[in-house]
Amino acid sequence: MAIVGSGFAGSVLARVLAVQGHRVVLIERGAHPRFAIGESTTPLANLALERLARRYGMADCYDLAAHGRWLARYPELMRGLKRGFTFYRHHPGEPFADRGLNSERLLVAASPSDAIADSHWLRADVDHHFVREAIAAGVDYRDHVEDTSAELDRHRVDFVIDASGPGGFLARELSIPSGLARTQTRSALVFSHFKDVRPMADVVPGLPDGPYPDDCAAMHHVIDGGWMYSLRFDNGVVSAGFALSPRGLAAVTAARTPDATRLWRDLLGRYPTIGAAFADAKAVMPLGFRSRIQHRLTRAAGPRWVLMPHAYAFVDPLFSTGIAWSLRAIERLALCFEDGLPDPKALRRYERLLGAEADQIDRLVAGAYEAMDHFALFAAQALIYFATMSFAEARQRLVEADPWSGFLGVGDPVLGPLPRESLRRLRRGPKRGDFERWVAAAIAPRNIAGFADPAAHNLYPVDLDVLVDRHALLGLSREEIIAALPALRGGVATNQPSVVLP
Ligand SMILES: Cc1cc2nc3c(=O)[nH]c(=O)nc-3n(C[C@H](O)[C@H](O)[C@H](O)COP(=O)(O)OP(=O)(O)OC[C@H]3O[C@@H](n4cnc5c(N)ncnc54)[C@H](O)[C@@H]3O)c2cc1C
Repeated sequence: MAIVGSGFAGSVLARVLAVQGHRVVLIERGAHPRFAIGESTTPLANLALERLARRYGMADCYDLAAHGRWLARYPELMRGLKRGFTFYRHHPGEPFADRGLNSERLLVAASPSDAIADSHWLRADVDHHFVREAIAAGVDYRDHVEDTSAELDRHRVDFVIDASGPGGFLARELSIPSGLARTQTRSALVFSHFKDVRPMADVVPGLPDGPYPDDCAAMHHVIDGGWMYSLRFDNGVVSAGFALSPRGLAAVTAARTPDATRLWRDLLGRYPTIGAAFADAKAVMPLGFRSRIQHRLTRAAGPRWVLMPHAYAFVDPLFSTGIAWSLRAIERLALCFEDGLPDPKALRRYERLLGAEADQIDRLVAGAYEAMDHFALFAAQALIYFATMSFAEARQRLVEADPWSGFLGVGDPVLGPLPRESLRRLRRGPKRGDFERWVAAAIAPRNIAGFADPAAHNLYPVDLDVLVDRHALLGLSREEIIAALPALRGGVATNQPSVVLP
């Protein structure tokens, strides 16, 4: 069989299939190391990596699933410490307003310590690593391939997995119609990697302590009609980009394809605190601009072919769903291939789930864009994401980890309907306080992390006491949760050898 595209999704899946005994050719039009965007991982991504590591004997995947283990085992692969998700709301022409605990600021911790924290992946390093490991596992890797179809013909493959991302190899080959009309989110992107970016603690000193240092996170600077991500790697380089809705873009430029450097400068000029953080920053590669980052197809699988999530659909980087979703798809496809080629029923199931999950991501993100003008609304909408993901994480750690369970609450009778309903409410323009109250009540049956608590002032640590108190939401007894606490707190110490994998 063949996999087209050697981003991490293509090469990790290729390696798993080789471990299962399949003959796999992995075809790449470029070559590694190469720049790629999409860097920030999440607890669900790292749990999936750990499961893949255990099931298929891939010890490096286990080590790369926690910042401490990564540093100890693979210091040469660049990464950034990600303790959680940080959000600030900025207003045009005004410095960020430090109102102490009442600032427009939201911090949600994803891990209790640096050792078991998530990481930002410097994709040039990480993707290259996964390709090398795929080759070592027996994958036949071909790069600099100019004509992918001819290469496939040469290998007479019986099945094609498209991991070409927005490159859309099979979309073109099979003329798969676009499904973009289903996607409600629309955003443009201006982005690069930078050095000499000042941390927020330098630019806005004296904010009350959060559960982790604000910059050790996926930083989100919410602005009018958009937001900026800022991901700091451990070598000081920062990956940053503004995602702008059509309204957000129009507020800064009338050009449909603006000059990226000028657009960047204008945005920094409009938001003084972000401008101060980037005042001395130098782009380490040319700034890029994309007028629309969404794509979506109408099909994700067919006879003897299947698409990886990023080849099928992409919505927006908000909430960092891409890596976790791709790894979940790798787990599902790996199961499909365990006994030979997948049976059509399994592929139809895969396709149905991917479609529902792409819709779900889109509704949640579209709702967040609707809410961006009012930080309280935005923070409440974000809590739907955090409640959903923390519940899924706790279930996967403590109860069961079925790769076929839906991503982002799909299939969950409580969480599943929330993104659609919240988008509906946000579009109606809810009265002040109503939406926040509705979110608090709607997530309550799954809220194992104590979200929507006014006393927390939008600063949420990983609170295991709350988890213990709310054990019943997971269907577990207090004793069962307490017994799991050491593992939840510590993960595996970094000075121990890699897990012995079965
Ligand atoms: C601006 C932005 C920010 C993002 N931020 C995050 C984030 O913080 N966290 C997160 O989880 N996700 C994020 N994502 C999503 C993330 O980028 C994707 O989930 C991830 O890159 C998917 O990896 P992949 O291996 O499937 O595809 P890709 O990384 O896109 O790799 C595709 C590969 O296929 C190759 N290729 C393309 N066409 C062909 C062809 N015809 N023949 C042969 N090879 C081909 C390409 O050269 C490339 O190497 C972001 C996405 C964007 C656009």
